[in-house]
Amino acid sequence: MFKKILIANRGEIALRVIRACREMGIGSVAVHSTADSDAMHVRMADEAICIGPPSSGQSYLHVPSIISACEISGADAIHPGYGFLSENAAFVQVVEDHGITFIGPSAEHIRLMGDKITAKDTMKALGVPCVPGSDGGVPDYATAQRVAEDIGFPVIIKATAGGGGRGMKLARSAEDLETAFRTARAEGKAAFGNDEVYIEKYLGQPRHIEIQVFGDGKGGAVHLGERDCSLQRRHQKVLEEAPGPAIDAATRARIGQTCAEAVARIGYRGAGTIEFLYENGEFYFIEMNTRLQVEHPVTEAIFGVDLVREQIRVAAGLPLSFRQDDLHLNGHAIEVRINAERLPNFTPCPGTVATYHAPGGLGVRMDSALYSGYTIPPYYDSLIAKLIVHGRDRHEALARLHRALGELIIDGVDSSVPLFRALLNEPDVLTGDYDIHWLEKFLAQELAD
Ligand code: ADP
Repeated sequence: MFKKILIANRGEIALRVIRACREMGIGSVAVHSTADSDAMHVRMADEAICIGPPSSGQSYLHVPSIISACEISGADAIHPGYGFLSENAAFVQVVEDHGITFIGPSAEHIRLMGDKITAKDTMKALGVPCVPGSDGGVPDYATAQRVAEDIGFPVIIKATAGGGGRGMKLARSAEDLETAFRTARAEGKAAFGNDEVYIEKYLGQPRHIEIQVFGDGKGGAVHLGERDCSLQRRHQKVLEEAPGPAIDAATRARIGQTCAEAVARIGYRGAGTIEFLYENGEFYFIEMNTRLQVEHPVTEAIFGVDLVREQIRVAAGLPLSFRQDDLHLNGHAIEVRINAERLPNFTPCPGTVATYHAPGGLGVRMDSALYSGYTIPPYYDSLIAKLIVHGRDRHEALARLHRALGELIIDGVDSSVPLFRALLNEPDVLTGDYDIHWLEKFLAQELAD
């Protein structure tokens, strides 16, 4: 087993990894920018090393500084968290070239899934259902016209290198196609340096359902069911729950097994998430994330497993500590993402948190790096806390979320907490009857009122 793990991240996810290290008796090394000298992950780790100025490009994304920090501290492995360098195949290569273990999949698998066309082709070949669309890249507008007529409008044009909701354009009819095609290409080129695009049928009322998989890197893999992450704003998840309100046990077993078999066949190592749109009882693959997800705690809650611990185990060459038959789903869990944002426009509002009080009690988990007197720096993501509740069923989980939000105090900065209070009054949220467009419609309505 590793002696010391360096965490190439910050905020709540750095704390999450430090906690797993401590329970496993492994030393932890935090890295931080000058803007994060007073951050909780720096205080909580066994050691901390400053790796550069506030801008991420010169600190959390600066590979030479991170490798140096590893060598200075004697860390033998790196956990990347999510975001930052977690899906950067070139980084993984550098880490391995220095004899350090990357806690995650191989560079090859990250590269395979990082290109959306290759990912889709691979999944299709492995028997995973995909959204109908073009066969690979669409080189020019004439081809785009032919493909769109074939699959039928509306269609969505996607940059193969896209991510974070960027490089995607909807064409409702033939009139929109040329603009959508050219804009998606231009965005792909500007944001990701790659103007290749492909076309998919646009689904009108799907849910976002994702399957958590775990590979041992030796041809074995399990699935840990689904998460429903349909409540989204600008393609960003806001609330996630497991199990999915629209998924029954037979459906879960079927799609879960398809996904586990797919990753087993490619010899995938570590945690991964296969994302689908789900409409009229059918699954359509959209992408695979080759890392731990922000919303992993809802899966941990219902299966009673520590996913970070498993990541560390398989990276060290140990087997998974459970088999498929050992995994039994228990109850219902919901996570809300609390951001330092001012409603109704969701403007980021960093600042000093005068008072912070976390909720507690049965079935409540608060993953956050906040403390009273902490100043949230303006340079990074606005996520400041994840509140996760677990109950025997969905009804109990919702009641617990309501109760926990009532206990939570974050004074001094605005946050998205009022949005969650409002959502808990909505009949559709209470019954679980929503698709990926529900939240945008709700917000538009709220603004109009
Ligand atoms: P990104 O990598 O930018 O997150 P994804 O391919 O994962 O892009 O898609 C992000 C979101 O965009 C999905 O969760 C869904 O809301 C929407 N979306 C993607 N593909 C389609 C489609 N074919 N039809 C309808 N909505 C889609």
